[in-house]
Amino acid sequence: MRKLAKIYAEKDADLSPLFGKKLAILGYGSQGRAWALNLKDSGLNVTVGLERKGSSWEKAKADGLSPATTEEAVKDADAIIFLVPDMVQRTIYLEKVKPNLKNGADMVFAHGFNIHYRLIEPPKNSDVYMIAPKGPGPTVRDYFVHGGGVPALVAVHQDVSGIALKKALAMAKGIGATRAGVIETTFKEETETDLIGEQTVLVGGITELLRAAFNNLVDLGYQPEVSYFEAINEMKMIVDLIYEKGLNGMMSAVSDTAKYGGITVGRKLIDETVRKKMREAAERVRNGSFANEWIEEYNRGMPTLRKALEELKKSKEEQVGSSLRELALRGKPKS
Ligand code: NAD
Ligand code: MG
Repeated sequence: MRKLAKIYAEKDADLSPLFGKKLAILGYGSQGRAWALNLKDSGLNVTVGLERKGSSWEKAKADGLSPATTEEAVKDADAIIFLVPDMVQRTIYLEKVKPNLKNGADMVFAHGFNIHYRLIEPPKNSDVYMIAPKGPGPTVRDYFVHGGGVPALVAVHQDVSGIALKKALAMAKGIGATRAGVIETTFKEETETDLIGEQTVLVGGITELLRAAFNNLVDLGYQPEVSYFEAINEMKMIVDLIYEKGLNGMMSAVSDTAKYGGITVGRKLIDETVRKKMREAAERVRNGSFANEWIEEYNRGMPTLRKALEELKKSKEEQVGSSLRELALRGKPKS
C-alpha cells in the first residue's frame, strides 16, 4: 500500500523565513482580502497591490491596509502573491510584475493553472510555490479570526533558495491553514484534480444531476415546490452528513428503504457510460485541451458562459427555488 500523504500541522511550520520580508498581495477579492488580513495579523509585512482605485482599493483602506498600485507593490517586494483571477494573471505578470520584479523575488500562487499550463514562465532564479486553500476566501478569514483555519495544499515548482517548501509552509501557517492541516502536492496534481473535480462533481456534475432530478419530477406532474424540496433543497442535509460522518455515516442516518433504493438505483444511474464521460473530461484537462478552450472562450468575452448562466437564471428550478429557500432558511435554528 502507498504511504499516506504527509500532513503538516502547526508544529511543522515556522513563520521565520517570512519575517521582515515584504509580501505583495495582488488582488483584494475572495482570497486576497483573507490572505492580506490573516498574514498581517500573523505579524508579517503585507502590501496590497491593485490595478486601479476602485471598490477593492476602498475596501483595503477601510480594513486598515495601505493599498498601492501593482507596480509600486511589486517593486521592492520579496514575494509576489498572485490573488487576481486566474485568467488575468498572465497579463498582469507580463505588463506589471516582470518589468518591476526584484531579482530573485518569490512567485506565489493559490492555484496552479498559470504555471501548469505555462501561461506564466517565471524567472529562473525565483522560488515558485503554491498554497491552495481548500475553501473560499471569506471562510479562510472567518475561521482564522475564530482561532481555526481552512486546510490547504502546498507545492513547490521551483526551489532556488533550497527553502521554498519552508516558505510555503510559513505562508500556510500565516493564513491559518496549519491549524487544520496542510498536504504537500504538485502544481500538476493540484491543477488537474481541481479542474476535474469541479467539472465532474462540485460545480458541473451536481448542478446537472439536481436539475435533471427536479425536471424529471415536474414532468411527471408533481408540484414544482415539492419537487424542489426533494430534488434540490434536501441535498444540503445529505452533504452535511457526508461532510461530518462520511458516506457510511450518511447511510446510517437514512431509512433502510432509502439505503436499499438509493444504492441499487444509484449504481444503475452512474453506470459505465457516465464513468467513461468522466474519464473523457479528465483527459481533456490532462492534455490541456480544456485549458485552451477556456482561454479562448475568456478572450472572446465568455459568450457561452454568459448565455448558460442567463438560461440557468430563468430556469423553472431557480424561479421556484428563490421563494422556497426562504422557507427552509426560516426553519434553521439560529446558532
Ligand atoms: P476574485 O475573483 O475574488 O478576484 C480577485 C481580485 O482581483 C478582485 O477583487 C480585484 O481586486 C482583482 N481583479 C478582478 N478582475 C480583475 C481584472 N480584470 N484585472 C485586474 N484585477 C482584477 O479572485 P479569487 O477567487 O480570490 O481568486 C484568486 C486566486 O485564488 C485564483 O488563483 C484562484 O484560483 C485561487 N483560489 C480561489 C479560491 C476561491 O474560493 N475563490 C479557492 C482557492 C484558490
Ligand atoms: Mg476549483
